[in-house]
Parts: sequence; C-alpha cells; structure tokens
Amino acid sequence: MRDFSTDHLALALNTASLGHNLDGHGAGWSPERVIDACAARRFGSIVFWRREVGARANEIGERVRSAGLSVAGLCRTPFLVGSEAIDRTAVLDEARASIDMAAGLGATVLTIVVGGVHPGTKGTAESLKIVAERVADLALYAADRNVKLALEPLNPVYAGNRSCLTTVRDAVDICEAVDAPNLGIAVDVYHVWWDCDLDTQLQRAGKDRILGYHLCDWLADTRDVLLDRGMMGDGVADLKTIRASVAGTGYTGPCEVEIFSANNWWKRDPGEVLDVMVERFHALC
Ligand code: ZN
Repeated sequence: MRDFSTDHLALALNTASLGHNLDGHGAGWSPERVIDACAARRFGSIVFWRREVGARANEIGERVRSAGLSVAGLCRTPFLVGSEAIDRTAVLDEARASIDMAAGLGATVLTIVVGGVHPGTKGTAESLKIVAERVADLALYAADRNVKLALEPLNPVYAGNRSCLTTVRDAVDICEAVDAPNLGIAVDVYHVWWDCDLDTQLQRAGKDRILGYHLCDWLADTRDVLLDRGMMGDGVADLKTIRASVAGTGYTGPCEVEIFSANNWWKRDPGEVLDVMVERFHALC
C-alpha cells in the first residue's frame, strides 16, 4: 500500500471543498488561483465542477497541466433519473455535453450522480433500471472521447431526490449489466463509511472499475446532510480501513478531498483549508 505519511502526489483537490460549486459560498477564487495554490502545495491533481469551467475547458485543462498537475475529474453529469430528468432526450444531451467538457479538460473521469426516484415509480428498483439504460447509452459516447464514467453511490439519506443509487453493491450491479470498459464507480467516504459490506463489494468491483476515491469525514452530530461534511479526522469514518479496502483492489489513483461545509471550511481562507488537507492526508489517510 502506498505510504502517504510524507508523499501527497496522490492528493487531489475537489474544488467543492473551497465552496466553489454553490452560489454565495467560498472565497470566490478563480480556477487559476486554485491551480496555483494547489501547485504551490504539490497537490497531484484537481477535480472541477462544470459551473467553474463553462466554455473554458481546453484553457483550464492546459493551465492545470502547465502548472505540473493533472485534471483528475469533472463533477458531474446532470441527474439521469428523478423529477429533473423526465425528458430523456434533454437529459442525455446535457450529459453528452458534460462528457464533451470532460474531454476538453483532459479529465480522466466524469462523475455520475444518478438522481432520485423517477416520477411514477416507488422504491429504487425501477429507477435503477432506467439509470442502467441511460448510462449504457452515455458510455458509448464517452468511450469515443476517451472519458471514463464513474457511478457514485450516495448515502441512502439522499435516495429520494439525489441518488436512488446508494450502495457500492448496486453500482457494481449496474456496471456488470452495462458491461462497458469505461464504466466504473467512485467510492466516497461520506457515502460508504457505514457499509459493513464495503470490503466485499469493492473486491467484487475489482481494480479496473474503481475510478475514484473521495475523502472527507462523517461528523457524528452532523447538522446538514448536504453541507456539513467533516475534514478527515473530525468524524467517525474509519479512514484507514476504508482506504485499505480500496487499496486492496489494486487502486492507485487519486485521493480526492471533497468537503461540502457551508458553516466551517467554506468560511475559512482557502489557503488554510488546503494546508489542513495536506496535514491530515499525511497523518490520517
Ligand atoms: Zn464524492
């Protein structure tokens, strides 16, 4: 297993950690300023959100690489099912545009957050079937553009309106059903820390299907399931054990810090946030 105690080349910043994916949050740094701050601290890579990139995918991608980093990923597709995804054509068109943006950035992976329970259905089974059908369509388009798609199961608390996909098990089921070489999963501590079956399901997924590993922590007394994530070490997730399971598959990709924290980390100076990430990564991850 890689030794992160002194080396953080594997460390990636997800810019959501600086509040950059929501209006009115964060310090408002430009992508260029974020890139320079990450380069100065020798992060290995950055993951952006579509709203920051806009029409500048090529330019931002080049800027990242000229600073000595890589673009590890792009967040994210539109929801593929749920109340925002009734119009199949419109959803798939927007998803294809997000694939084009990832390709323009030179991003290795585009994350898929699948959306909640589809209108007219109950439970998650029917919605997951629609997800599989739509992902199969997108995987072909993405493969032609050298983009990998990572299904990210979210914590079950979001099943109603953000992600009917809630377990690594169900994500691997979709991967097996779709059977596309560029389709895999993203493993986010916030969403999987509670799952006693995690190790088994990660082994089942295997190295080639694990396309991302996202770090943060689950605060024991979390106040807001969307915007109160903890920094690594501040919560109850067993980071070492989860990482051992991920590494046990052979995963050697980036470790991406993704912390939505409206009332704590987003209020701090981004330079301080980045410094704490590096320290915690060395000590705890
Ligand atoms: Zn994530």
